[in-house]
Amino acid sequence: MATVDLNDVRKVYAGNVEAVKGVSIAIPDGKLCVLVGPSGCGKSTLLRMIAGLETITAGTVSIDGKVVNAIGPTDRDIAMVFQNYALYPHMKVYDNMAYGLRNRGTPKDEIDRRVRETARTLELEQLLERRPRELSGGQRQRVAMGRAIVRNPKVFLFDEPLSNLDAKLRGQMRVEIKNLQRSLGVTSVYVTHDQLEAMTLADLLVVMNAGKVEQAGDPLDIYEKPASIFVASFIGAPPMNLLPVGQGSLPANGMPAGAATIGFRPEDAEVVTTKEASGDALALDADVEAVEPVGAESFLYCAAAGSRIVVRVAGRAVARPGDRLRVIARAEKLHWFDSAGRRIG
Ligand code: ADP
Repeated sequence: MATVDLNDVRKVYAGNVEAVKGVSIAIPDGKLCVLVGPSGCGKSTLLRMIAGLETITAGTVSIDGKVVNAIGPTDRDIAMVFQNYALYPHMKVYDNMAYGLRNRGTPKDEIDRRVRETARTLELEQLLERRPRELSGGQRQRVAMGRAIVRNPKVFLFDEPLSNLDAKLRGQMRVEIKNLQRSLGVTSVYVTHDQLEAMTLADLLVVMNAGKVEQAGDPLDIYEKPASIFVASFIGAPPMNLLPVGQGSLPANGMPAGAATIGFRPEDAEVVTTKEASGDALALDADVEAVEPVGAESFLYCAAAGSRIVVRVAGRAVARPGDRLRVIARAEKLHWFDSAGRRIG
């Protein structure tokens, strides 16, 4: 049981590299917080500061209300799971899992009990005598999780743990991690650059950009109401369509004062057959350039109003490259941003 609180945390590396520029996040007990953002935005630095592997230039990190800035990594009661598994290749699964407990001088029978209990939770019981090279990628990842779990820590930290697994396995492991984290109820911080992983795992999603928090909250709330153009284009795949509006460019009905960009998600675009469009909608002539069928849906890549847009249609697309379509987006599906890229309304 633990809360994790970051209060105006900053990191300046040697050479005056400002990696984290004042980040505040409150993670409730038992929740999974995902830090997501492009490479270099400061996610790993932030995670390493929570872990105690990196000094904190300013601000505080608290675990369960207690500031841990000056406490070493081994005394913070956290466990970290990395992408490269960091398993000892010469040790059996059992010993890999027992290693941290032995280092702490935990009694032998206690170690045995905890390793076996964890192996049962993770369905690793049959694999305890194997060495890492005799395991699949997913099994290795599970052992890495097991090593974190046996220690019964207050907080789990995940640093891109799935990034070197193939897409299918990544999907499975994502579900496993989520279920495990939920059933164990251990407060967790998870770093990824993958927006899908972030959306599906997070109780609390934190979108970072250039060392700062762009937006934090419930993943679907962020998807539905991105606070900035940065978030709108980072969360969601394919990303939100964004078009310049106003003086001389695209006309749009109901445009709020100060709007510079209009946005709509690919799934919120509708292909209509007539020139008619409801008065409150954005209407565009779109020239289909490419069609991408992915089975249950198809994506139409189009040129419209001097920009590129993506339209999602259900099932098999009837449109073909070269077709001209009338595409509308309803008023309640539109997003407006000002010239600084901030959301309006
Ligand atoms: P992310 O995990 O989001 O990719 P990082 O936290 O690794 O981002 O890096 C944030 C910024 O800090 C980057 O500009 C990176 O080059 C810089 N950085 C990371 N580690 C160090 C270091 N040890 N010394 C100097 N600069 C660093």
